[in-house]
Amino acid sequence: MKREFQQALAEKGRTRLPTVLLVSAECAPISKTGGLADVVGTLPKSLAALGVDARVITPYHRCVKDRYRDRVEHMFSFSVDLGWRSQYVGIEKLVVDGVTIYLVDNEYYFGDRIYRGGMPEGEQYAFFTRAVLDAIPNLGFFPDILHCNDWHTAMIPMLLRTQYGYYVHGRMKTLLTIHNIAYQGKFGFDFFRDLLRVEDRYFTSEFMELNGCAAFLKAGCVFADRLSTVSPTYAGEICTPYYGEGLDGILSARRHQLSGIINGIDTKLYNPFSDPLIPRKFDKGHLRGKQFCKDELMGEMGLRADSRTPLVAMVSRMTDQKGFDLVECVLDEMMESDICFLLLGSGAKKFEEFMRAAEARHRGRVCSYIGYNEELSHRVYAGADMLLMPSRFEPCGLSQMIAMRYGTLPIVRETGGLKDTVKPYNKFTGEGNGFSFANYNAHEMKATVEMACEVYRSQPEAWAQLQRNAMSEDFSFSRSAEDYARLYIDML
Ligand code: ADP
Repeated sequence: MKREFQQALAEKGRTRLPTVLLVSAECAPISKTGGLADVVGTLPKSLAALGVDARVITPYHRCVKDRYRDRVEHMFSFSVDLGWRSQYVGIEKLVVDGVTIYLVDNEYYFGDRIYRGGMPEGEQYAFFTRAVLDAIPNLGFFPDILHCNDWHTAMIPMLLRTQYGYYVHGRMKTLLTIHNIAYQGKFGFDFFRDLLRVEDRYFTSEFMELNGCAAFLKAGCVFADRLSTVSPTYAGEICTPYYGEGLDGILSARRHQLSGIINGIDTKLYNPFSDPLIPRKFDKGHLRGKQFCKDELMGEMGLRADSRTPLVAMVSRMTDQKGFDLVECVLDEMMESDICFLLLGSGAKKFEEFMRAAEARHRGRVCSYIGYNEELSHRVYAGADMLLMPSRFEPCGLSQMIAMRYGTLPIVRETGGLKDTVKPYNKFTGEGNGFSFANYNAHEMKATVEMACEVYRSQPEAWAQLQRNAMSEDFSFSRSAEDYARLYIDML
């Protein structure tokens, strides 16, 4: 065990590292729709390397059943009351890559989609909440920390404190991690009254009420022992009305119990020295292969400029969050200088149409691939010179970290995790690993892109140094895991 952890435990009068049960709607590699699954799937492995026994409890979705049925071991079953119905709960056990995963089985709730949307989704996860709380005393694994993630599991801390009195429940501490505050699980009071037997006294603004409804996420923000989110800057931002989505009041009141821990990326998967998906390997000591990747990418995408022309790329969902309205505003002006622009993304129709029209106006210099393409994304990260991320808000952001691994310098707005991971170029000292701008303003973004292109064109030495800085950053999950381990110990 790390000496630092030994000391922290000694201060608490403990000798043993805490045990942790992560509760989540999805967990990679068995079920995944987004970044939440990666965090929940990877964290236990990195925690195990530090000596922390962390396990996962998640629904037994159909996609998991289809792939892992033969490896799953049935543990026990019971029934829970949900509204007027009594529902079957099966608890199964699966070990994947050394991580123990408890699966909550019920064909009715976890028969098809991971997220059903609307009220059915609320009922799905009200069931999951009840099933998890009732299953814990019989798992044969007693967690010190129950680590909940996002709204789907955020009622657990509240029910634990208001409806459960067993010894095992009483000794657990709860942590709620907010991966995206925009999704809150809001439903009418009757929903909570009927399905989860929530008493009327909790439907006030001090507890669960939010804009005339009640919200899973608000219950978690009020009742969890500790709160965290996925970057230090975002932790500060969600305490303000602009970013807080109505929860800024409770979050700022609990600011001292709210931490920000940056997510990691899979540094084995995203490694320019071993990535089988890119046309030539390279590393920070040998960057020549990157120029080859760029030439290949430009050829593949039909970009016909000189190979020294700066190539600015975006790999992103096309939503308002990601700053596409800024791009829409100034792309034509940006194309007046000698640059190429490449987009890999999908999302809102209006942005897709804008990109198609821009491609026609700037043939050979603007190019877009509308759709989701994992393999192409590796070639873009490897071949581009810069990655643009002008987000309106960004809880953590992975694309900028992936880009830096490949020596592609990020140009970002200073918000959330972007602010915490990208250090802007300092022309006096040569320090930095990218470029950034402060305000959500199209011309500020354009000026920053132009500045980056100018450094690329006229100061190759400074550029190469920035690339080496970016490629030397540690974005591995082990760093996040250490921060989580510190937090768990602090919670004891
Ligand atoms: P968010 O989770 O908000 O979409 P992140 O930056 O945290 O944004 O993560 C986005 C992830 O999805 C990155 O791994 C990025 O490479 C990938 N991605 C986004 N759009 C595409 C796409 N069109 N094709 C392939 N990968 C994509």
